[in-house]
Amino acid sequence: EEVSMYRIELESLKVKGKDCPKPVKAWSQCGLSSKVMDVIKKNGYEKPTPIQAQAIPAIMSGKDVIGIAKTGSGKTLAFLLPLFRHVLDQPEIGPEDGPISLIFAPTRELAIQIYNECRKFCKPLKLRTVCVYGGSGVSEQIADLKRGAEIVVCTPGRMIDVLAANSGRVTNLRRLTYLVLDEADRMFDMGFEPQVMKIINNTRPDRQTVMFSATFPRQMEALARKILTQPIEVQVGGRSV
Ligand code: ADP
Ligand code: MG
Repeated sequence: EEVSMYRIELESLKVKGKDCPKPVKAWSQCGLSSKVMDVIKKNGYEKPTPIQAQAIPAIMSGKDVIGIAKTGSGKTLAFLLPLFRHVLDQPEIGPEDGPISLIFAPTRELAIQIYNECRKFCKPLKLRTVCVYGGSGVSEQIADLKRGAEIVVCTPGRMIDVLAANSGRVTNLRRLTYLVLDEADRMFDMGFEPQVMKIINNTRPDRQTVMFSATFPRQMEALARKILTQPIEVQVGGRSV
């Protein structure tokens, strides 16, 4: 029976860190706007998955969060839904302003997947999102960034290029207050740590940072300490499967 299955799934949730809010059971407990709820319903997402049930209230509480759950468990919405609320809570961006939120993905395919999920919500919310990745022309990405976007999804190498382009006049990180590292394990397996750090070192120290990964091997802890402040760790299933 479905309700008890859900209870069993939630029992595999582990939480580390101080003052973590309780997991939610329904979307109605997530503090989402009616426009966000409409998109969720339209897509047939009946209730939060276990990682969403715990990570969404943790992120909404304003804390840095490390979310660990296997592929296919719904990590994208776990960081996107709090992202939309964060962005909508900020004053509108002006013509010279860079993004309020930045999402790192290790590959162009993953960046595009996140971007497509993000776009479903951006239209009704009247937000703009741009996807910045290598292996395709940079000029269109630069033009989109210059028009302004609250949300940027990127791969690290190309993001460094556009930040440096035109003496730094294409975009900037001055208003960046919500940073996401998705598929963090792959990011570091692929050797992108220096590029990610180069960008993060130019962001505001008062930003909120969340990191999602299928696994969280010991070697990643040092990196997590560098970029997250007193994080809550939310884990569904094992830490390194
Ligand atoms: P992960 O990043 O953990 O690999 P994704 O975020 O890509 O997982 O989600 C996997 C699939 O599950 C996607 O097709 C997504 O649309 C779907 N999904 C996400 N959240 C829910 C939900 N609450 N209910 C049903 N399906 C969902
Ligand atoms: Mg994912």
